[in-house]
Amino acid sequence: MKSVVIGSGFGGIAAALRLKAKNHSVTLIEKHPDLGGRARVFKKNGFTFDGGPTVITAPYLINELFELFNKKPDNYIKLTPLKTWYRFIFEDGLKFDYSGDEIQMKKQIKKINKDDVKGYEELVKFTKKIFDKGFTELADVPFDKPLVMIKQLPALLKLKSYKSVYSLVSSYIRNEKLRRILSMHPLLVGGNPFTTTSIYGLILYLEKKWGIHYSMGGTGHIINGLEKLMKEENINIIKGHEVTNIISSSNKIKGIKLDNQKIINADNVICNADPPAVYEKLLDIQKFNSLFIWKKKRMQYSMGLFVYYFGTKKTYDDVEHHTIKFGEKYKEHLDDIFNKKKLNDDISYYLHRPSATDSSMAPMGHDCFYVLVPVPNNQSKIDWSIEGNKIKNLVIDKMEQSLLPNLRENIVEDFYLTPDYFEKELNTKYGSGFSIQPKFTQSAYFRFHNKSEICDGLYFVGAGTHPGAGVPGVLSSAKVLSKIL
Ligand SMILES: Cc1cc2nc3c(=O)[nH]c(=O)nc-3n(C[C@H](O)[C@H](O)[C@H](O)COP(=O)(O)OP(=O)(O)OC[C@H]3O[C@@H](n4cnc5c(N)ncnc54)[C@H](O)[C@@H]3O)c2cc1C
Repeated sequence: MKSVVIGSGFGGIAAALRLKAKNHSVTLIEKHPDLGGRARVFKKNGFTFDGGPTVITAPYLINELFELFNKKPDNYIKLTPLKTWYRFIFEDGLKFDYSGDEIQMKKQIKKINKDDVKGYEELVKFTKKIFDKGFTELADVPFDKPLVMIKQLPALLKLKSYKSVYSLVSSYIRNEKLRRILSMHPLLVGGNPFTTTSIYGLILYLEKKWGIHYSMGGTGHIINGLEKLMKEENINIIKGHEVTNIISSSNKIKGIKLDNQKIINADNVICNADPPAVYEKLLDIQKFNSLFIWKKKRMQYSMGLFVYYFGTKKTYDDVEHHTIKFGEKYKEHLDDIFNKKKLNDDISYYLHRPSATDSSMAPMGHDCFYVLVPVPNNQSKIDWSIEGNKIKNLVIDKMEQSLLPNLRENIVEDFYLTPDYFEKELNTKYGSGFSIQPKFTQSAYFRFHNKSEICDGLYFVGAGTHPGAGVPGVLSSAKVLSKIL
């Protein structure tokens, strides 16, 4: 079997390795000169900026890729568990250190609202049930036939998947601040907690099960380890070339064409590139059936991301590795981003400080950061060449006030990415940060299928297909692939 994988995100790399382990002859093609997709690395003047994923959960899914070839993960990567997973900070200065230490968790909950301790215990128990079904049982099941979905519906309804994560959490927790903390997980995979199906409440339990890890040397170090493994296993890697066309005949895959006009024949093409963009721009099939057209048209896309990477000439030692700062009007802010598609000054943001754990990420005596602000995707038609700099200044002002005093005068290196980068450089529709939203009507069978219903030999892995975005999600999508191919 000759298989071509388009794209080198975590999903694409995992697919290439899993197919290689099944004796396929595999070629992986990446548009950029470096691998990783959203997990690319930007190195500048001694600073190492991980482009995207920083919170590593379910590490066994990464380790498995090495173990497929009887290799020891420790010889390639080094994952370290973090003690404090997230520090949440509210506008009134209240801090909450979220971790796997249940005693500390309950102590802090009790301080905010003692009546919510019991609700928290019940919530964790319920998310375990969701996790057992949604992750353990279903994350690597191929949902390419309606019957598979129909069979699961009664169980999913019993788990209240018609509710949103926020509404599920609110049925156990009274205090608004605790509700925000315990329902924020959909934001990690591009969803609005107020509309994302409560199935994603499983992330709360997934974190508790395996902890939150950091990859020493940055997430890019995992990509480097996987690249080394792919080379050892003779996977053919083509970097710096874009696939411009997927060639098919009578709805059967024949191969792909590169930007240099080279044609590579293949039995299977596995797209790690964003499914809607693939269907619209790469396939030479002009006519899709009406059910598929309807399904694609009604899709709702995840938020966009403004990511500001910066290095400082001093260290901010009291800032945690992962900080989430909530704005005052959190719900309104999310509504503006997801529904009204407009910017709002009352931002919430996530601040990443890898140098809190790993001094190799910045020159000595310096600190390395990125701050991520959720923004509308490019359906908004926002001109980022104007708004980008405004958001940069807004977020610097906000961080100076609450977290990083005198930040502006200490910045020695910086750059930012907007939804334009995600659209033009990573080829995602509307520059969404995480492909399509994780809503119930866009989950499992209702997502883009791992095995295309349009063309024989065409497959998908990565954020836009089942089970969804986030590193564990896209690694699981490659497990689905290896079951069907
Ligand atoms: C800023 C940010 C922070 C995040 N933080 C976390 C986190 O902490 N934890 C977590 O678990 N998840 C996180 N995520 C989500 C996670 O990073 C993604 O869901 C996941 O990495 C996406 O992987 P993927 O396999 O879908 O491929 P992608 O990373 O989307 O890669 C797709 C690749 O395909 C290539 N490509 C596209 N079209 C073509 C073509 N025509 N020819 C050749 N190549 C092509 C692109 O260049 C790209 O390299 C974050 C995401 C972002 C953006």
